Amino acid sequence: MIATTAAAAVAVAAVASARWNWWRLKVKGMPALMYHKIGDYPPGSQLRKLWVTVKNFRKQMEYLKTQGFNPIHFADWHAAEKGSKPLPANPVLITFDDGYANNYESAFPILREFDFKANIFLVYETMDSHNSWHDPAGEPWIPMLSWKQAEEMQNSGLIEFGSHTMKHRNLPAISMDETRWELNESKKRLEEKLGRPLLGFAYPYGAGAYHPEIRRAAREAGYRYDFAVKQGISPLPWNPDSGPLRRLFIRGDDTMYDFHLNMTRGKARF
Ligand SMILES: [Zn+2]
Repeated sequence: MIATTAAAAVAVAAVASARWNWWRLKVKGMPALMYHKIGDYPPGSQLRKLWVTVKNFRKQMEYLKTQGFNPIHFADWHAAEKGSKPLPANPVLITFDDGYANNYESAFPILREFDFKANIFLVYETMDSHNSWHDPAGEPWIPMLSWKQAEEMQNSGLIEFGSHTMKHRNLPAISMDETRWELNESKKRLEEKLGRPLLGFAYPYGAGAYHPEIRRAAREAGYRYDFAVKQGISPLPWNPDSGPLRRLFIRGDDTMYDFHLNMTRGKARF
């Protein structure tokens, strides 16, 4: 009987090991959650894993609250780096790529409820429009944030915006002149529109984050924090020379155990 139980436990552990990273050492640093769309994926979506349901998003925020995490803005981090205000204990960056209207409709009310700060990377030319960079045959066009919604979110004090370029192009596939325009122009226009310094940048598709010339251009554009999509938790303090910031990709089909492993191990699955 005991032997059978032990064998069963070994079998369970083997199965868990094959899928999850529970055995990894706990990682400390600056976890940066990466979300895209909040809600139910539309029929025809080939990017279902980028959709996190409202129910799951709420559970994940609940986890952050009960585990004592404190969501911050890029500006909070920058203030801490300059020595003007220390970071709270257990800081976390909640980030959203692209700037979908569903961030306002579905995520913002939950962030308000928890009084949580979050950061949204906008694609300047898609504001008040739709996700035109997607082929609608694979990912339906849906509304992006309006400037009015962005203004309301910024005025609430809960949302800080970053840049995700002008048009969401694949930077390594275009010329360096075009890349510099995407980086510099979006920063300038967003700063004019929002009246705040733009500290954060996320590479569309994560592309170019590890391309030395493109990354140098992002740094030269004046972004303090550049975000890749590479899975992991960046160490604190963070040295920009060590490479772009890693993130925790929160997938639509993640369980709360995956979320827990992401937050503590910097990785859920293999
Ligand atoms: Zn994107």
